Amino acid sequence: MHAMVLKKLGAALEWTELADRQPGPGEIRVNVAACGVCHTDLHVVDGELPDPKVPIIPGHEIVGRIDAIGAGVEGLHVGERVGIPWLGHTCGVCPYCARSQENLCDRPLFTGYTRDGGFATATIADARFAFPLGETGSDVALAPLLCAGLIGWRSLVIAGEGKNLGLYGYGAAAHIIAQVAKWQGRTVFAFTRPGDVATQAFARRLGATWAGGSDETPPQRLDAAIIFATVGDLVPLALKAVRKGGRVVCAGIHMSDIPSFPYQLLWEERQLVSVANLTRQDGIDFLRLAPEIGIVTETTRYPLIRANQALADLRAGRFDGAAVLVP
Ligand SMILES: [Zn+2]
Ligand SMILES: [Zn+2]
Repeated sequence: MHAMVLKKLGAALEWTELADRQPGPGEIRVNVAACGVCHTDLHVVDGELPDPKVPIIPGHEIVGRIDAIGAGVEGLHVGERVGIPWLGHTCGVCPYCARSQENLCDRPLFTGYTRDGGFATATIADARFAFPLGETGSDVALAPLLCAGLIGWRSLVIAGEGKNLGLYGYGAAAHIIAQVAKWQGRTVFAFTRPGDVATQAFARRLGATWAGGSDETPPQRLDAAIIFATVGDLVPLALKAVRKGGRVVCAGIHMSDIPSFPYQLLWEERQLVSVANLTRQDGIDFLRLAPEIGIVTETTRYPLIRANQALADLRAGRFDGAAVLVP
């Protein structure tokens, strides 16, 4: 197999030939057909997340077909198309696992961060954390659903049922979740970098009723806002835009420092919460709904060997929607 391997934090990924591995007990081996590129991959590469496995193969939005099955795996078969998400393993016994909060597990493994991921021609996964994807939709179109979609979905659920929803940072996650929110009958207000009229037009095309700069006041008060951008400065702006009792959800795994702000912005029962990871139930709920909603993902393809270019383009905001690597 071949992979784009991060051998040193902060360095470029290196095209590397590796020995094929056999799946161990409870594992599957998957031939990767597509792997999305996520902001979290940038945080992994940049060394902004604690205790990564190094060397590591990044990538946690994997779509592929099972080509080998380890002992004890049930309910999956060779040739089946599966998706492998960020949550790669949980301990099953800690207090969080015991109370259906496996997203907060004390001893988890995360795909492409603490276990090898999908910037590769093949990967080994814990079979219990692979989602059967069926045959509807192309591999490339489905890949962004595995993190941008799933984390976005969890964020949307946690944002509550309010009608007016603000989305700050209109990239891979927001462009999926705007379509879900619209399908649910909500009104989406999209916030981009001030002056980024191209992304604002993209947002209006894919679900948003209004789009403007993050420094602008939306035409209506928001019931909730989700911040997908990794910019702490957006937190007080979002709090300012939500109504009394409204909720601001921070969806990113990493964010720059939040500037101090007057208590007045939080007062009147506004809530500020974060969303961490996903549970398998989130995946089952969202992936069941996705074909029904008919989510359209805007993707830019890169050959696997050009993963560094995909990461650079993501960092610079050079495409709308999501980048997807194909072997
Ligand atoms: Zn646990
Ligand atoms: Zn991700």
